[in-house]
Amino acid sequence: MNRQQEQDAQDSRGYYRRMQSAIEELLILKGVFSGADVEREVKAMDSRDPGRGAKMVARAWLDPDYKSRVLKDGSAAAEELGFAVGPLRLIVLEDTPSVHNVIVCTLCSCYPRMLLGLPPEWYKSRDYRSRVVREPRKVLQEFGTRIPDEVEIRVHDSTADMRYMVLPLRPAGTERLDEEQLAQLVTRDSLIGVTMVDAQG
Ligand code: FE
Repeated sequence: MNRQQEQDAQDSRGYYRRMQSAIEELLILKGVFSGADVEREVKAMDSRDPGRGAKMVARAWLDPDYKSRVLKDGSAAAEELGFAVGPLRLIVLEDTPSVHNVIVCTLCSCYPRMLLGLPPEWYKSRDYRSRVVREPRKVLQEFGTRIPDEVEIRVHDSTADMRYMVLPLRPAGTERLDEEQLAQLVTRDSLIGVTMVDAQG
């Protein structure tokens, strides 16, 4: 980015920030919501982290009935564990020995925030958004993930009303672990599909 582009980017960020606080102020004045509501929502947003998605995955690994519910209706399966999804449709994509799934939002940064919290910076980057669609195998390799040539990689593009989460493969050597121990192995990146779950955590 050159100096002019940097300046422009800063100006537009400043513009949107002012716009956001002006609208927020107006809506509070009009009694649509209160300042306390805003604070509560921000706190709730901060409290969401990939532990939620990890718990769903661990439960699905241990309970075949839960797993079929997860794959049939991700939103309902999340609500079942007490995680509110709201009006969004959550689709959970199952990895198999022959298919590996990866999620992206090519347009902006749609992400299953209700289950994973805020997206990492790289997920929002133009580099990831454009390249993972064109050369997924190469991008995954940059994350240290080598997908064998015979395994198909499917890239799923999120939209404004539909979110994806990956149900990764359960690694070998985890047969004796309970749900909590399994959930500890499931990382944010494995729920996005850029890494696999490692039995060593
Ligand atoms: Fe988006």
